[in-house]
Amino acid sequence: MAKHKKYIFVTGGVLSSIGKGIAAASIGMLLEQRGIKVTMVKMDPYLNVDPGTMSPFQHGEVFVLDDGAETDLDLGHYSRFVQNAHFTRKNSFTTGRIYDAVIRRERAGGYLGKTVQVIPHITDEIKKHLREAVESADLAIVEVGGTVGDIESLPFLEAIRQMRTEEGAENVVFVHLTLVPYIAAAGELKTKPTQHSVKELREIGIQPDVLLCRSDRKLPKDVKDKIGLFCNVSGDHVFSATDVSNIYEVPIYYHEEFLDEKIAEKLGIWGGRPDLSQWKNMVEKIRQPKRTVTIGIVGKYTDWRDSYKSLSEALVHGGVSNDAKVNMVYIDSEEIENGNTELLKSVDGILVPGGFGERGIEGKIKAIEYARTENVPFFGICLGMQLAVIEFARNMAGLKSANSAEFKTESQENVIDIMESQKSVTDKGGTMRLGAYPCQILSKYNGKPTRAYSAYGRELISERHRHRFEVSNTFRKEIEEKGLVVSGKNIDKETGVELVEMVELPNHPWFLGCQFHPEFLSKPLQPHPLFNAFIKAVCDGSKQVQRKLKGIG
Ligand code: GLN
Repeated sequence: MAKHKKYIFVTGGVLSSIGKGIAAASIGMLLEQRGIKVTMVKMDPYLNVDPGTMSPFQHGEVFVLDDGAETDLDLGHYSRFVQNAHFTRKNSFTTGRIYDAVIRRERAGGYLGKTVQVIPHITDEIKKHLREAVESADLAIVEVGGTVGDIESLPFLEAIRQMRTEEGAENVVFVHLTLVPYIAAAGELKTKPTQHSVKELREIGIQPDVLLCRSDRKLPKDVKDKIGLFCNVSGDHVFSATDVSNIYEVPIYYHEEFLDEKIAEKLGIWGGRPDLSQWKNMVEKIRQPKRTVTIGIVGKYTDWRDSYKSLSEALVHGGVSNDAKVNMVYIDSEEIENGNTELLKSVDGILVPGGFGERGIEGKIKAIEYARTENVPFFGICLGMQLAVIEFARNMAGLKSANSAEFKTESQENVIDIMESQKSVTDKGGTMRLGAYPCQILSKYNGKPTRAYSAYGRELISERHRHRFEVSNTFRKEIEEKGLVVSGKNIDKETGVELVEMVELPNHPWFLGCQFHPEFLSKPLQPHPLFNAFIKAVCDGSKQVQRKLKGIG
């Protein structure tokens, strides 16, 4: 590997949502498998300092890193495709963060009386951030958020243009992802939008080296040559980015068209050919599952798929390790609130994910009661765990008005409460418990391994958090006495204060709640232990159901 750091910049044209994140992640995966130490960076062109305060309905899920950084959901894709990179807040930044840094420096007199301008001060700050992000690796794949032509992304594009000059053309590759639509009426793939988008890039001084053309079919050679000719790119650097049914197939298709080889050639990096056997195996398992199970995800009807991206991926991974296809049905908790538990009868497992706000809460609690009393495998994550504790407190521990301080600030029986240390903090951004914390697992309960221990196979784990509220220690004893087992806790080294991290029910096929978000750590090649165990229990349960239906056993 050359000493010089290498950069691959991925821009997008024509439309948003054509899969730039997956494209960047796939390039990262292929180069890593060639033996290169890669990292990934996302630059987002909006003014929020981070996406933590943005509605997930607008922007998709907030992906949390170990260091507590709240990032864009693309960091989730990167984490799932790339195995060895350790991402920190350096790997994701927004225009807001850049301006914030520049304005702070200006206020502190850091510009020595100069006029502070977009070029060079903002662009310098962007380059500084990029160079810092690549410190721990040899190569960075950098995704530029937004679409070429947007006013917002101009400073980022100008910065990467300068990077090519400063770092040397042999160390920088520009990849541009565009759309090549098939127009049925003409029976033709249309290249004009791509031509326009590249023209726009070239006007600001960026000549792409590689074009990835998103299309519903493979591009024939003559179409690639035509695009190449009009865009000043050689035809063998124009690649099809064909629609796929499963995102993990994307790097395999790229590799079949020699994308990684061409990029390696351009950058003068000669690792070996990538070993994709493990990855292909995983893709094959998704393609040809041995069985199908159905998980009911109980949430607010306004929640949409992208706000649970990591969750749905983690369920797919749990399926991979159990040779199962996980069919996910989204169940509106308000319908259950209105008494319609019929919806729950057709699912093999119930999952209540993380969330904020009061809406639909009672429906989720009803769904949990159903899972508990009907022996349906249940997995509660963050808010889902808090509600499982409330359900148990109300129905099993006699705390009839049990609730969470998030919804009932004045209740006397708030089994979920704000952390004592946080009660005086009023700043919205400041009160969340964010990032990785250690969790001590209880290995046995009544002589038998706990579900938590059976899943992880060890006693000390670390998981990522994003929440304000906790299980209150005031009511813990009463609840534990009635049989809810605290199988994971975080113990503060200095104060000895315990925070509940996991709860479970011993006499249930599988009923577990966790305060953290395990979905952030799940990868297709390393499915998360809890998702693995949950889906296993669901598969076992659905077999039992099958047997019952057939009158055997
Ligand atoms: N709203 C809850 C809290 O703040 C749960 C958060 C979550 O599920 N991520 O504690």
